Amino acid sequence: MNNGGGVKKMKYVLVTGGVVSGLGKGVTASSIGVLLKACGFRVTSIKIDPYLNTDAGTMSPFEHGEVFVLDDGGEAVIDKERRGDYLGKTVQVVPHITDAIQEWIERVAMIPVDGQPGPADVCVIELGGTIGDIESMPFTEALGQFSYRVGAGNFCLIHVSLVPVLSVVGEQKTKPTQHSVRGLRSLGLTPNILACRSTLALEENVKQKLSQFCHAENIITLYDVPNIWHLPLLLKDQKAHEAILGALNLHGIAREPNLKEWTSRAELCDMLLEPVGPSKFLFTYLAIVAMFCLRFMYLNHKLQVRIAIVGKYTGLSDSYLSLLKALLHASVSLRKKLVVDWIPASDLEDETAKENPDVYKAAWKLLKGSDGVLVPGGFGDRGVEGKILAAKYARENRIPFLGICLGMQIAVIEFARSILGLQDANSTEFDPDTKNPCVIFMPEGSKTHLGGTMRLGSRRTYFQAMDCKSAKLYGNRGFIDERHRHRYEVNPDMVSRLEDAGISFTGKDETCQRMEIVELPNHPYYIGAQFHPEFKSRPGKPSALFLGLIAAACGQLDSLLHAHKIPNGMAKKVSLYQNGNATKFAKIPADGIYSNCNELDPGDGKGEQSLILIFYTGLPVVIYSRTILSKP
Ligand code: GLN
Repeated sequence: MNNGGGVKKMKYVLVTGGVVSGLGKGVTASSIGVLLKACGFRVTSIKIDPYLNTDAGTMSPFEHGEVFVLDDGGEAVIDKERRGDYLGKTVQVVPHITDAIQEWIERVAMIPVDGQPGPADVCVIELGGTIGDIESMPFTEALGQFSYRVGAGNFCLIHVSLVPVLSVVGEQKTKPTQHSVRGLRSLGLTPNILACRSTLALEENVKQKLSQFCHAENIITLYDVPNIWHLPLLLKDQKAHEAILGALNLHGIAREPNLKEWTSRAELCDMLLEPVGPSKFLFTYLAIVAMFCLRFMYLNHKLQVRIAIVGKYTGLSDSYLSLLKALLHASVSLRKKLVVDWIPASDLEDETAKENPDVYKAAWKLLKGSDGVLVPGGFGDRGVEGKILAAKYARENRIPFLGICLGMQIAVIEFARSILGLQDANSTEFDPDTKNPCVIFMPEGSKTHLGGTMRLGSRRTYFQAMDCKSAKLYGNRGFIDERHRHRYEVNPDMVSRLEDAGISFTGKDETCQRMEIVELPNHPYYIGAQFHPEFKSRPGKPSALFLGLIAAACGQLDSLLHAHKIPNGMAKKVSLYQNGNATKFAKIPADGIYSNCNELDPGDGKGEQSLILIFYTGLPVVIYSRTILSKP
């Protein structure tokens, strides 16, 4: 939708958080994106995380949850001071850093990321942290200036805050929100909308009090919902879009938000996640009962699917958030209830059998009870042998298996050991002296990453055969673009030996030196991917390989593959895909690019760029920006 003639002006929605962290600012920002898209706008987004790390990729998942990877790999450096741009002047937070932050935001916001020409209509910016944090000060200051710079009618501020309820009296307390809005105002930012997290909807008098003391006209309650997919609906019901469109002067050109599909998916998810009480939802209940009967009587299909995740950080499911979401997107789309069994890989090892037999038994029981096995990515050698045992079990017992990144490398090591009889086959990451290095260090020099050897960000994979499962699942495209984050890869010198023994490298990079997808053709579903397909999975647009895993785990892979349309003449090769910075990425033509829930799908409209800005001021300052639109 074009918002006016001439040069289009970008409209900005800034989402800040107050009182405490973990209020769901990200989900709110994503949901606003969904809502604005439903109004007919093209939306991009930026996330700013005020960390001091220069490389987000090295942060521990224990502290920060998962490291989310973007198409551009998330690494870019400005070194204005070192380049001498400041001509020896003292570099200060204001104006040097704040100016640079604003320039970056403006530049990144204009990059089209949905495959359509020209910039998006609206850019949703999520400012990480909580208002008042020292870390976010330069950013809040910059954004305060920015609101003035872009001018009224182009900027809408949504402040997500907390309204706690004192359990004794059940009173909804407004004071913390009042304080955080005061903090916001002192930094030159005035909220257009207060989005208040609370257990229940805010009472009318509480809303009035908030709007009076915080001078905010629009008060919205983000009360507890059965699953986060309800959030865009909650915002719509409370007319958040009208307030946003009003602040952005977009009223005239917006359409009524169409969230029909989204609503039914959220309801389906409720049904699959929660047992529904008959008194409350009699109709739904009856429908479920009917569905149960039908399934059992005629189709004999399973209603739930158990997936064992054999990983390292299984105690902290946040480390595998994208995996979980990707599994959920796939299972909801196949109308299955997802049950995830977390298995710490080391519990499957012989060592545990000796030291802790009960733990060992429990782990194997879980693995054997699963319908599908997922071995995710990982670094370091802890649990590697356990993951190899899990891959072996899945291969030998014909249990659907998906190995991601390290999981793929594990599958290859296991195959080399068991089928080629190379007992010491290993990755040089774990055994640098192995005589049979089937996975080796294959760094990729990155110009955009300081000292980086990681193969990071979007890379292209070409299918080597059209009749393999992965190509079919991806709709028989000639190639796909998926995100990477690794240093090691299958040793190209061992590929022919491995293939002669029956494993198939069905996806490779443009040089055919990097193995991207591996499959066992004679197995119901045994696939490994060097990339991370989970990062591009979206609600309603599940990732192909996850969909395959869930379908295979439910015995529905054949019908899924038959249902896929297979266009002709797909195996054409295209010119080399350019990696690197955001500008280059934006130039990739839309045609032929794999758009399963990715940035080139016009219907999805989310930016997937990142920005990291490092100023040499004695202390590095990092803006880590990423897009999580449509990610709930
Ligand atoms: N550690 C492996 C590598 O660096 C796998 C990385 C991953 O799984 N993301 O190649």
